[in-house]
Formats: sequence, structure tokens, C-alpha cells
Amino acid sequence: MPREGEIMSNPMLSIAIQAVKEASMLCSGVQASIPAAISKSDKSPVTVADFGAQAVVGHLLETAFPDIPLVGEEDADALRENPDLLEKTLCAVRSRLPDMTADELLAAIDRGSHPGGGEGRHWTLDPIDGTKGFLRGDQYAVALALIENGQVILGVLGCPNLPLNLMEPVGERGSIFAAAIGDGAVEMPLTGGEARSVNVDRLRELPRRRLCESVEKAHTSQSDSARVAELLGLTAPPTRIDSQCKYAAVARGDAEIYLRLPTRPGYVEKIWDHAAGYRVILEAGGRVSDVNGKPLDFSRGRGLSGNLGVVVTNGLDHERIISAVQSVLGLS
Ligand code: AMP
Ligand code: MG
Repeated sequence: MPREGEIMSNPMLSIAIQAVKEASMLCSGVQASIPAAISKSDKSPVTVADFGAQAVVGHLLETAFPDIPLVGEEDADALRENPDLLEKTLCAVRSRLPDMTADELLAAIDRGSHPGGGEGRHWTLDPIDGTKGFLRGDQYAVALALIENGQVILGVLGCPNLPLNLMEPVGERGSIFAAAIGDGAVEMPLTGGEARSVNVDRLRELPRRRLCESVEKAHTSQSDSARVAELLGLTAPPTRIDSQCKYAAVARGDAEIYLRLPTRPGYVEKIWDHAAGYRVILEAGGRVSDVNGKPLDFSRGRGLSGNLGVVVTNGLDHERIISAVQSVLGLS
């Protein structure tokens, strides 16, 4: 049987894909109407779609797997304090789940408060990864992963704005990427259609490899990655993409390297910003580590507190790229 077939017959993955699909459709609908953002306590933006997507995924996962907890980025406090925001979120959620009540919505979002860790199973969800991209009308992702004893078992990325073919940026958009440990990774159109295997591109010599990084300077040191690119002799300028769509881009061969280099001491990467993309890239044949070459450790709770930054490659020259990163960051 082709690998696509094996993956698509995984029952947990099918439900995760369905949940991400519903949340992605909700986000597309909200993005079309230029959503308003409110600021969280850390000053990062959040919208009706962030809350709505977490409610949809939280509710669908609870129905299917009531005993598996969820580590989600959002909580419902802001909705309890702001009835207008609650009403708008409920309206967005009812576009996908017409019978949802306000109490169910708040409970579904607050399911995401689990602390995570290295024992047993939990889901992790970023309802909108790349909220700044979402607000600009650019790329964002709904990212859901299942972690078992610290290992990422399943990963699903909904990328509603990603062109199916990067060569045709005005063509059809909207993909779902799904991966299961040992079973490979697939991409399928968000609107339905066949799943096809995705694999990294390994045909390019190092100078021609394409590097991608965050659009937001606050999320990665673009100046350090420019120095890494120079050391490696990369000739193309970086491609800047919001969200875990960067993992998807490397996984399907639109780029070969993704660098996320620390911008300030003490920042701890969040598990929901990486878990789904991590499984997708590994199953597509790529490699992931932190800037010191250490494997990402998803067993430490809600953050990757044992790691610093992230380096993703198509699996070729990973050590050499880590050496260049370390030399630029003064770590070697
Ligand atoms: P991206 O779209 O790849 O730039 O990443 C978006 C994510 O960056 C958000 O979900 C935030 O959790 C995360 N983020 C916020 N501040 C930082 C930071 N200082 N360094 C790295 N990531 C950050
Ligand atoms: Mg995020």
C-alpha cells in the first residue's frame, strides 16, 4: 500500500486532520473580513479567530478523546471579561459548529491549560501560529500535534493561505500537511482532494539552497542568519514566511533551510510553535535540532526549556550548518 494510504487510515490522525480543517475554514472566513486584534499581557496580538480555532479544535478533540488533555496557546479569560468579544467568537465558531453554546465554547478553550510534560499523552495546539501574518493577510497555520511520553507522534498543519504551487502564487491556496511517526508526511488541499507524499528536496548544492525565516524581526535574528548565509555561501536572499508554514516549505521542497536564531536571552520557544512542524519535517526526510545541535525536547512542559533556537534542514550538511550558526552566535 502507498504510504499515503497508511497515513490516511490512522484513526487518530484522521480526527486531528478534521479538527484542523474545521479550524482552518473558520480562520479563512475571519481573515476575509479584516479582523480586529486585541493585545495579550505579553503585548502579542490575538483575534476572534485565535479563540475560535482553539474552541473548535478543543471541542472536537474532547468529543473524540475525552481523556487526552490539551496544551493550547490561548485561554478564555479575555472572553469572560469582554462579552462583545465572546459574542463575536461564538458567531465565528457557529459557522463550523452550529450548536455550540457560550459555556461550551469557554470550556473548550480552557481545556488548553494543561501543563504538558514527559508522561503520557497530550495534544498541543497553536490555533493560529503567526497571528501577525494572519492580520497582514499573509501566511499563518493551525498547528496540532500529539505528544506521547515526550515524543511527537502526530503532526498536522493547516496552512489556509499557502499556494498549492509556489510557482503559481495567485493560483489555488490552502493545504493541510499531516505526518505520523514512521509513516511519512502528506499534503492535501484544504478543500478536499487526494493526499500526496511530501519529501524534502535534496538536489541542490549548498550555495543554491534556499533559506527561510520569520517575517518578524522580533522572532528571529535576521542579521545573524544573514551572516550564517554568507558563511555558507548561499546565493539567494532569504524567503520570509510567517508561522510553521516554514516547516511545510522545507518539507515539500520549496526551501532547504529554516533558521530561528535567538533575538534575546531567556526566550523559551513554545512547544505549540514547533511540535506539528517538527513531525512533518522529520517524516519528509529533513532534520531538526536547536542551535547547539541538540534534539528538541518536548518533555519539559509548555516550553522547549532545554533548547535554544531552532535549525531545520533538508537533512544534508546539518552539522556544517550548525557549525556556521555556532560560529556566528559565538557559541563555538
Ligand atoms: P513566526 O511566525 O515564525 O515568526 O512565529 C510566530 C511565533 O513566534 C508566535 O507564535 C510566538 O509564540 C513566537 N514568538 C514570540 N516572541 C518570540 C521570540 N522572541 N523569539 C522566538 N519566537 C517568538
Ligand atoms: Mg505560534
